[in-house]
Amino acid sequence: MYPDELERYHRQLLVIGREAQEKIRRSSVLVVGVGGLGSIASLHLAAAGIGRLVLIDNGKVELSNLQRQILYTVDDIGKPKVYSAAHRLSELNPGTSIHPIYADATPELLREVISGVDVVVDGLDNWETRIIVDKICYELGKPYVHAGIHGFYGQLYIAWPGKTPCLRCVFPRPPRRGNGDVIPVFSTTPGILGLLEANEALKIISGVGKPLLNKILVYDGKTGLFDYVEIRDADCRVCEE
Ligand SMILES: [Zn+2]
Repeated sequence: MYPDELERYHRQLLVIGREAQEKIRRSSVLVVGVGGLGSIASLHLAAAGIGRLVLIDNGKVELSNLQRQILYTVDDIGKPKVYSAAHRLSELNPGTSIHPIYADATPELLREVISGVDVVVDGLDNWETRIIVDKICYELGKPYVHAGIHGFYGQLYIAWPGKTPCLRCVFPRPPRRGNGDVIPVFSTTPGILGLLEANEALKIISGVGKPLLNKILVYDGKTGLFDYVEIRDADCRVCEE
């Protein structure tokens, strides 16, 4: 470990030690979607010292994103999110190599990228693409850290083939989106859930702590309460039919 790394990660090394930090440096993570969830997750993954971060998003920054997507500033409006994100994250940690992919998250692209990463972090805002990511992760044996948000509500679940059922088996029906064409989101909700996603991904990679397995975390920002739903049946019933 270089002297500047010892200094950069000093406080973290006190918690997890050098071996775990080396594991984080050697690892690669896909953040699929760099909106609200992906903003905070990728900022903390880069800050914590992930070696390689792949970002996929087909969107451009809009003024209405800035209320929650804290990777971006007014100067980024109109620019592809992944390029602005890559610039910001490289400035934060030049030791993390950032691979921005400005494209639709098609099954072909996802399969190619996911086969080369250790963990996938969910920054998506639609259930259809989540189910595609889930299926590919299941087939390739990669852990998928899912989070979803709506208003003040958030949920977190880790689909880890061989250890937990996949997303589709735990949530067989897609959640209702409501009436509008966009999902209502309070500013801090994606921040809290995105941060929890980064925390789980870092635990999976470093081997420190215990990932939240076979539980759905449910967050209610209106009351500040967290709740947990136990998954008793650890099989992939839908998938294996
Ligand atoms: Zn399944």
